[in-house]
Amino acid sequence: MDTNPADQDHRDRHRPDRHRPDSGPKGRGTHRVVIVGSGFGGLFAVRALRGAPVQVTLIDRTNHHLFQPLLYQVATGILSEGEIAPATRDVLRRRSDVSVVMAEVTGIDLAGRTVSAEAMGRPLTLAYDSLIVAAGVQTSYFGNDRFEAFAPGLKSIDDALELRARIYGAFEAAETEPDPAVRESWLTFVVVGGGPTGVEMAGQIVELSHRALHRNFRNIDPSTSRVVLCEGADRILGDFGRRLSDRARRDVQRLGVELRLGARVVDMDETSVTVEEAGGRTERLAARTKVWAAGMTASPLGRLLAEQGGAELDRVGRVRVRPDCSLPGHPEVFVVGDLMALDDLPGMAEVAMQSGRHAAVTIARRARGDDRPARPLRYVDLGSMATISRFSAIARFGRLGVGGLTGWLLWLVIHLVFLTGFKNRLSALVHWAISFVGRGRAERTITAHQAAARRRAVAGGGSLPADPG
Ligand SMILES: Cc1cc2nc3c(=O)[nH]c(=O)nc-3n(C[C@H](O)[C@H](O)[C@H](O)COP(=O)(O)OP(=O)(O)OC[C@H]3O[C@@H](n4cnc5c(N)ncnc54)[C@H](O)[C@@H]3O)c2cc1C
Repeated sequence: MDTNPADQDHRDRHRPDRHRPDSGPKGRGTHRVVIVGSGFGGLFAVRALRGAPVQVTLIDRTNHHLFQPLLYQVATGILSEGEIAPATRDVLRRRSDVSVVMAEVTGIDLAGRTVSAEAMGRPLTLAYDSLIVAAGVQTSYFGNDRFEAFAPGLKSIDDALELRARIYGAFEAAETEPDPAVRESWLTFVVVGGGPTGVEMAGQIVELSHRALHRNFRNIDPSTSRVVLCEGADRILGDFGRRLSDRARRDVQRLGVELRLGARVVDMDETSVTVEEAGGRTERLAARTKVWAAGMTASPLGRLLAEQGGAELDRVGRVRVRPDCSLPGHPEVFVVGDLMALDDLPGMAEVAMQSGRHAAVTIARRARGDDRPARPLRYVDLGSMATISRFSAIARFGRLGVGGLTGWLLWLVIHLVFLTGFKNRLSALVHWAISFVGRGRAERTITAHQAAARRRAVAGGGSLPADPG
């Protein structure tokens, strides 16, 4: 398994140019590489370009590298946002060959070899000799975009902090609510989507209501909360195979999650969710806190590339690339990570890391004058995992599957290895001890801004017509 970029960059600390002021990248060559996206794909590409005769510019609309697999822990108050989203500029501070730019990419001109962007309202144009696009995917509401106001997705730090405020705010509202029916709706949480994110969110909401909030309230008993997990298919964690999926179902139900399989969410408003069961029967659940963990769609930059370059897009808008991850007809442009469609590879961190690294190695070889044809990406599947609750996770490595405490310990070690920076690993370990061995949740702040926005949304209502059934 690979170590992470921060550690690799750490070794550069004794380079003589480490104190030079940052006035553009100071690589040894003139070949300009622009990388769009500082997620796993982009960051691992930067790392693989170390020592190559190139100038690298890494551009992202955020100022951080986000460890998305732990977003659910920020959303439920276990970890702080800084622990999973270190500033990219700081992660790469010892890489004088790399310039970090915080800007939103708005256009790519394949013929002119430029990327246009907007940095705090100011237009920017960057010329490239090689381009890596690692812009990822975004939440999809399958055409029901109005659901977004009621059920945030979990894709960014903003999403996680919004959900955290809504979840802890729901208990605060319930504490002062005199009407038992309304109180119950504050204490009902609906998670939509039975993939890893949905299962992890549902499990953590149960744990916080049953354990972490113990003795915190005087008028409500948080352990009476209802957590409903809706999944349209007939099983959760379907990608893990029948045996692990069945095990996860049993574990989730034992934990206290109310599982609705074959249940599609067909409508929602501020106070409720309407669910259609497999037989076509609909039910409206009074629930004020909803989490959307059901779907993703590719970054619009994928369509932009396809329209100019003639590449095909798959069902969710990912760009079909050549076996070496390059754009058909444009060997100097690479699409990697979640935005790339290649051999049915899943949208996973390891795919992003390996494809980002592969594209960078090809670019570095060419910059050194090696004109041999690019090699195809040979993806090595290192498995996948999902946590159910504290001390319980499932993990799949090829045909081997493990669950329970063994799965959870594996989860712990792997996530510690991949978290960026020693300080973050240490503080995550302390927070995990607080939350999993103890009962606490260290990160429960609701800002005044969040509380005011929630009050406005609740006052605004936006309810569905009366339930005929
Ligand atoms: C909640 C959640 C849990 C997950 N859990 C797991 C897990 O347990 N295991 C696993 O293997 N995978 C997991 N994944 C998937 C994994 O995180 C992704 O596969 C991986 O992050 C993809 O990396 P990427 O670099 O392709 O894209 P991303 O990490 O999404 O990075 C894309 C970057 O591009 C930037 N960007 C996008 N558009 C623009 C633009 N126009 N201008 C500038 N910047 C732009 C974004 O700000 C972002 O920083 C999870 C994902 C989520 C959301």
